[in-house]
Amino acid sequence: MFTDIYSPLQQLNHPVLPQFWMKRDDLIDPYISGNKWRKLKYLISKAFNTQKHHLVTFGGAYSNHLVATAAAASKAGLKSSAFVRGETVENEMLLLCRLFGMSLIFTDRTSYRNKPQLFQQHFGADPQALFIDEGGAGPEAVKGCAEIIAELPTDISHIFCAAGTGTTAAGLLKGIQQYELKTTLHVVPALKGGRFIEEEILKYTGNTDQLVLHTDYHFGGYAKTQPLLINFIKDFVSKQGILIDPVYTAKMLYAIEDLSSNHYFKPEDKIVALHTGGLLGLLGMKEKFN
Ligand SMILES: *Cc1c(COP(=O)(O)O)cnc(C)c1O
Repeated sequence: MFTDIYSPLQQLNHPVLPQFWMKRDDLIDPYISGNKWRKLKYLISKAFNTQKHHLVTFGGAYSNHLVATAAAASKAGLKSSAFVRGETVENEMLLLCRLFGMSLIFTDRTSYRNKPQLFQQHFGADPQALFIDEGGAGPEAVKGCAEIIAELPTDISHIFCAAGTGTTAAGLLKGIQQYELKTTLHVVPALKGGRFIEEEILKYTGNTDQLVLHTDYHFGGYAKTQPLLINFIKDFVSKQGILIDPVYTAKMLYAIEDLSSNHYFKPEDKIVALHTGGLLGLLGMKEKFN
């Protein structure tokens, strides 16, 4: 299941950026969305290599990671369970999780904080259970995300990606270092106070010399939007024919647009924006697009 993937590099039509491409990780799978596929790839191999046939993970009720884990587990013939943060709810994302066979355990916010303890309490007696951190974070995820770099040309000036935990960004920077590229990695946190992401990345990469963090494009915080962002999404989708999600990719693309209008780029710069998928995020924001 994790061998052949379809993630083309597609050139975008842009009025002032002549060399602007999008890496379409959103096309890898509709449910194992973009970077979640990259992050789960080596965790699923680990499950097979260690005879663990039950993936146990953690996330919020609108987590792309939960749907991705549920879908990946069912494709791989594995069981899946998840601790869902907060009171019992139903929504489109959790419906998909259940359809893919995931067992959901709603967990109050205090207990949710101690993930190893929850795992131990519920699955300590199950030798087949594999602990997967929230968002799939960890060295396997970084390794999977570093592979994106191997699929890109070596002469890209700027790669842009959105960040939640920064694991995907850490993988990209690691890939850039491994291939000794001159590329600059631009990371756009989808949440307020995203400075911490530099530390996260540093844990995996040793240095952040080729990193630029853009912390001012969060639009009020995680999963928050503003009319400016919603209008940007409508415009982008209608002009490019590529769906983008309001939580991550739209904020990253808006950053490129804003930097471009401030003459941040040179005409000869080659720019790649990573589409990390997450289109199901639109489901939780229907009313914003009225
Ligand atoms: C989870 C997610 C991210 C954030 O990835 P991190 O590795 O946590 O930084 C970005 N984009 C989309 C669409 C996601 O679902």
